[in-house]
Amino acid sequence: MIAQCYQAGIGLPDRDYYFNSDESTKKIRKKYLIHLTKMFELLKDEPTVAEKNAGTIMKMETQLAKASFTNVENQDPQKTYNKVTIEGLNKLAPDINWKSYFTKVGYPGLPEVNVYQPSFMKELSNMMKTIPVDDWKTFLRWQLINSTAAYLSKEFVDQNFDFYNRTLSGQEKMEPRWKLVLDVTSNALGESIGQLYVKKYFPPVAKQKMTDLVMNLKKSLKQRIENLTWMGPQTKLEAIAKLDKMGVKVGYPDKWRDYSGLAISFGSYMLNVLHSQAFEFRYAMDKIGKPVDPTEWDMTPQTVNAYYNPNRNEIVFPAGILQPPFYNLDADDAVNYGAIGMVIGHEMTHGFDNMGRQFDKDGNLRDWWTKEDSKAFEDHTAMLVDQYNHYDVLDSTYVNGKLTLGENIADLGGATVAFNAYKLSLEGKEALKPIDGFTNYQRFFLSYAQIWRTNRRDEELRKRVKTDVHSPAKVRINGVVYNMPEFYAAFTNVKAGDKLFRQAEQRPVIW
Ligand SMILES: [Zn+2]
Repeated sequence: MIAQCYQAGIGLPDRDYYFNSDESTKKIRKKYLIHLTKMFELLKDEPTVAEKNAGTIMKMETQLAKASFTNVENQDPQKTYNKVTIEGLNKLAPDINWKSYFTKVGYPGLPEVNVYQPSFMKELSNMMKTIPVDDWKTFLRWQLINSTAAYLSKEFVDQNFDFYNRTLSGQEKMEPRWKLVLDVTSNALGESIGQLYVKKYFPPVAKQKMTDLVMNLKKSLKQRIENLTWMGPQTKLEAIAKLDKMGVKVGYPDKWRDYSGLAISFGSYMLNVLHSQAFEFRYAMDKIGKPVDPTEWDMTPQTVNAYYNPNRNEIVFPAGILQPPFYNLDADDAVNYGAIGMVIGHEMTHGFDNMGRQFDKDGNLRDWWTKEDSKAFEDHTAMLVDQYNHYDVLDSTYVNGKLTLGENIADLGGATVAFNAYKLSLEGKEALKPIDGFTNYQRFFLSYAQIWRTNRRDEELRKRVKTDVHSPAKVRINGVVYNMPEFYAAFTNVKAGDKLFRQAEQRPVIW
């Protein structure tokens, strides 16, 4: 395990918020300044001082944002891999005393780090020299209050909600206190709560059935790779070796985390949060220099989500996602393949998306592609980038095809591989009876559409288009099915000339 240095320090959700010149972003910057001023007033600054401090923060954050990587750059494993010794870090960012810093946080012997964004570290170092100490003090006051406001007294909580939830996401009403506190506790004691969760909601039979499903999906993807026309035999061998070696985790970890070192009391809520953050920091830092723990999970069991980890070449499905609408023990196979089957295929495909494909079967950053196959992959995915760039989500707010490419590849691959897996599971017995008037293939697609049912306010949608690597829910459905010949075969009433219809040659085939 190695330490990582990552850009940080800005209060808006993404660097682009400091520079975009559209009306809605300009309005958000204006409101952010007001929010900063109000927070300094809550810290008992005089109104004129508070206003001046707000200006200082905006200026410093803009400087940091300018040196930050864009979220598209942050997805580039080559560009963000810059391993240096501490001496190397001193050369890169000479006006920060790194030895002293790492000693003070308790890790004096740190030999090396990976600097994700060298430009950011350079600028941060430069600012140490050029920004007056008093401004840094203001900056640190803001960092402290901004990271703790949600756990302080009502006036801080309300002001924090007003900007981060109401202005940025359009949320009108705060969630009830028990929900907010449950979230915080679930973050702090994730696997403790997870133990309670799986005991109550995760039957052992679900784990077995899920493991069988994953094996069927693996078989399906293997067959798809073998039959790809754009990929040569040499790269196929490597791809299949990677798929064969891909690890699978289902439900919950074999070994639970130990929280006995975390001090919790009935005294201060804020202090409990701070103790938990310090505990997490130590937990992460203590891993440095040790071998990777293969039993570790990056999500808690109660999380309704799943992931692929390129460094470990493994797919992970927490118990939380193994319930309807994703997974229904009482539903027929078409419904489950369209939902959890698609999720499994999606995570597997991440091992072969524009980022995942740069890692090999052992999770190392190694190019295992022939030149021709790399080129063919990029040609096919360029079609996808272009398609998604054209999806207008909200009055001329377009999806960012590059930012969402990995997820869009995983969606298309996931649905395709899941459909193929479902077909294989029928073993030639295709003529199943319709249910509620829908054929089994139609039910597969209906189920796929149903897992993305979401309700989002416009403000939240705008924010996500800038920050989320996933496309908005509606696009995750339409963007995928109109690229699939299986969809046209299932819904024969969809014809050329229909609004979303795509000719065969306009449909990319990636996995
Ligand atoms: Zn994904």
